[in-house]
Amino acid sequence: MEPTHASAGTTQSQDSETWAQIKAEIRAAYGDDIFTSWFARIDFESASDTTVNLSTPTSFIRHWVQQHYAADVMQRWRAVRPGTREVLFKVRSALRPQPRAPRASGPAAVAPNTVEQTAGVAAPRRQIDAPQSNPNTAGGLEGSALEPRFTFNTFVEGSSNQLAVAAAKKVAFAQPGERAAYNPLFVTGGVGLGKTHLLQAIAGAATAVNPARRTLYLTAEHFMYRFVSAVMNRNTISFKDILRDIDVLLIDDIQFLNGQKVQEEFGHTLTTLVDSQRQVVIAADRAPADLEGLDARVRSRLGGGLLVELTPPDYTMRKAILEQRIKAQQEMFEELVFPDEVIDFVARSITTNGRDLDGAINRLVAHNQLTSAPIDLKMAENALRDLLRARESKKPKIEDIQRVTSQHFNVSRQDLVSARRTKVIVRPRQIAMYLSKTLTPRSLPEIGRRFGNRDHTTVLHAVRKVEELIQKDQQMAEDIETLKRLLDQ
Ligand code: ADP
Ligand code: MG
Repeated sequence: MEPTHASAGTTQSQDSETWAQIKAEIRAAYGDDIFTSWFARIDFESASDTTVNLSTPTSFIRHWVQQHYAADVMQRWRAVRPGTREVLFKVRSALRPQPRAPRASGPAAVAPNTVEQTAGVAAPRRQIDAPQSNPNTAGGLEGSALEPRFTFNTFVEGSSNQLAVAAAKKVAFAQPGERAAYNPLFVTGGVGLGKTHLLQAIAGAATAVNPARRTLYLTAEHFMYRFVSAVMNRNTISFKDILRDIDVLLIDDIQFLNGQKVQEEFGHTLTTLVDSQRQVVIAADRAPADLEGLDARVRSRLGGGLLVELTPPDYTMRKAILEQRIKAQQEMFEELVFPDEVIDFVARSITTNGRDLDGAINRLVAHNQLTSAPIDLKMAENALRDLLRARESKKPKIEDIQRVTSQHFNVSRQDLVSARRTKVIVRPRQIAMYLSKTLTPRSLPEIGRRFGNRDHTTVLHAVRKVEELIQKDQQMAEDIETLKRLLDQ
């Protein structure tokens, strides 16, 4: 740890003031929207001759600020403290150190564009930055990188996604001049059910069928980033022009779109495109009506097209997905043998989604490569028992909720379960109760007991209060989203 004492001729309180001043500069430079989204809750912690330590309330914010604003923040510090060589961002922990190690940094949701690591086996990572010749480019605007594997050919169809695939193909293979059939096409479904695969399949096919059609696939995170960059470079007009000139716009994981200006911009773009018969395709992990952050008009617009839902694959589909992934692995590892009984076992035990099926295959291949043990039923049972157990323990427990909530709001866990009723503690406590009710199977009385022996009516009141606030208060809705993401890793 760096000494917390400043010795570069500045004191702790001067440095703290410097940070307040830099924040004011940042607010003036980027505007209120960006400032409140990213900087408002960054605090000064400590500094040495060369290093400044700042803290962020969440790892999502840390990740974003580090990626996009670190150089600027550094420059501003240097202007005041010329010896500064690095500015470090850390996630604030609770006042009392927690015994459990924090989970992997950065919620999975931070980079919807990377394939998750599954059970310690590194899946190939897609690049976040587009490769040099990115086919996913329209009007000079680069889209998010596409995964070559995500095509219609590799997408297994079945009862749980038939409608979605049919609609996706209709959109992708539309004839020039044909009216947009379903607009917007809204694809919804839980994690790993193939939303990204389907959207990228549409993007790839639309370009292949008709290269003149300007097609752009963007994750919501990239959309935000492009918008924010355009604002910073005073270039929003050309950003808007480009977007409004696109024939097929696909935006993935729209539930992550946050910031009022960004959402407004998205709303305008959506309206303009749909009104001028351009195709818009959106994916989200929930239905339009449940996208709390979005303006009611935008939500209703989103719901005005066709809503298709992806649900978990049945046994036959799971088997087909596995066979397909195994074939791909066998192209890399020629000697790989997957007996039928192993495929059957995996298809029966992993019932959740495509991502988990991928994870299982990666895991078996890794075991096989690392230990030279043949892939047979015994080995698979062993290897996957871990995986199933790891998944089991990932479900949040009340302790996890208390820990993450107290860290997020910077109160101690003791306070959370104490009898104290000051405002700084009451709200986080209510939120933790709300999350306990919505994310775990525990009953109201049980939750009451775990929060300092409170009555079940207190818990009920907390749940209702938070539900009400989510509707009214943007900040609250975002806090809840962030906490859910942190708990969902
Ligand atoms: P989401 O975006 O909904 O979280 P992804 O599209 O990233 O899910 O899918 C996760 C993984 O599962 C990907 O490797 C994808 O190819 C695979 N997958 C999901 N559904 C299917 C399907 N129906 N056919 C083939 N692969 C699938
Ligand atoms: Mg996805």
